[in-house]
Amino acid sequence: MKGFFSSQLDQWPLARENYNGLERVMLKDVPMPGGSLVRVQFNPARMRSSAARVDKKSISERPCFLCKSNLPPQQEYIVFYNRYLILVNPFPIFKRHLTIALESHEDQLIAGRFADMMRLAEALEDYTLFYNGPRCGASAPDHFHFQAGARGFMPVEMEVNYLDRKRIAGDGTANISYIGNYHRHTIVMEGTGTDRLEQWFTRIYNILHQMQGKEDEPMLNMLAGYNGRYYTVVVFPRARHRPAQFFEEGKCQILMSPASVDFGGLWITPRPEDFEKIDAAVVADIFGQVSLGEDEWTELLDRLISGE
Ligand SMILES: [Zn+2]
Repeated sequence: MKGFFSSQLDQWPLARENYNGLERVMLKDVPMPGGSLVRVQFNPARMRSSAARVDKKSISERPCFLCKSNLPPQQEYIVFYNRYLILVNPFPIFKRHLTIALESHEDQLIAGRFADMMRLAEALEDYTLFYNGPRCGASAPDHFHFQAGARGFMPVEMEVNYLDRKRIAGDGTANISYIGNYHRHTIVMEGTGTDRLEQWFTRIYNILHQMQGKEDEPMLNMLAGYNGRYYTVVVFPRARHRPAQFFEEGKCQILMSPASVDFGGLWITPRPEDFEKIDAAVVADIFGQVSLGEDEWTELLDRLISGE
């Protein structure tokens, strides 16, 4: 993967510029009550992603940027598992940032693809995989894809190891818990085998789907990594895509559309005024709006614990 990256950066000026630009992005750490951290990244190159129009009409009117026939001429790919194209993301958040697109143009829906995510996590051990649902930050809701970022840059990757975790269920091969006092509802699944993890994920998915009804898929974001011994999967159930601040005007506006990486504790903001404004109160407020509502969360936990 290192050779793939350096050859892409050699051949592709836009990607090279944007990766070099990452060296200059501003970061600030916002300590949160309860001992967690949110790291804010001011990254102007991400404007097109933060403010992207993802309604059906806008999507249907643009050429799909993940279809092979529309890839920029400089873009190369590695075929994975006969059906995914591993691509260098030319608008990075991470020093190494991949998009892993299904080879065929199919909707962004996670059902039936959990095992693929685990395969990718295992193959890309230096990366954390992430999945953004079609209404939870995916910039191509019409073309299935995962992303992967160099491991160790999102606070949650460390925080799962030391923050207070409450057990939901477990049997040694798979353990399910949630992180207490974390400002967004967060389920952590750990296991040595992917089958049990997939069963747990399916239960979570089905309960959320029943609660949220009609939509194609319940609102969620997800991270996954493999450390050589076991898989860690983090699920963030959602209530909405964008907070009220996104739709404000003038001074009250904050251009945040939280997705997996933001839920992982790395907030990406393309505007300097938002970078300034984001503090612990803003983080807690926005997480509170976009994370699953309290009643639904209680119901989800009750049903997972009782096993019904
Ligand atoms: Zn496509």
